[in-house]
Amino acid sequence: MPEIHPFKRSRVWTLREAADHGQIIVITCDLCRITHNYLPADLDILCGDQRPDRLLCRFRCEGCGKTSLRMTLHVPHGSEFGVLKIRRLKHVRTIKVPIWSDDLLT
Ligand SMILES: [Zn+2]
Repeated sequence: MPEIHPFKRSRVWTLREAADHGQIIVITCDLCRITHNYLPADLDILCGDQRPDRLLCRFRCEGCGKTSLRMTLHVPHGSEFGVLKIRRLKHVRTIKVPIWSDDLLT
């Protein structure tokens, strides 16, 4: 049976399914050539359970600030455990933005 290209596979999977299958999300900036690896479970906490290919619009390169990003799914090989760097979700900070309106005292 032929191997399904990871990007095509990502159209089917959701983040939780990718996590269940031990896959990682690899996001690369085409301009900077910087690559970060993410655990689907971390992205699920941040963005909710959705198809990985819909995540790219939520990301911006930290290096150049552009959105020229490419995403693939990767199943780590045995030799990558303990070696492959994973960008983990450390903390989510919620920012409160006040929206004021002028009104009359009644
Ligand atoms: Zn970049």
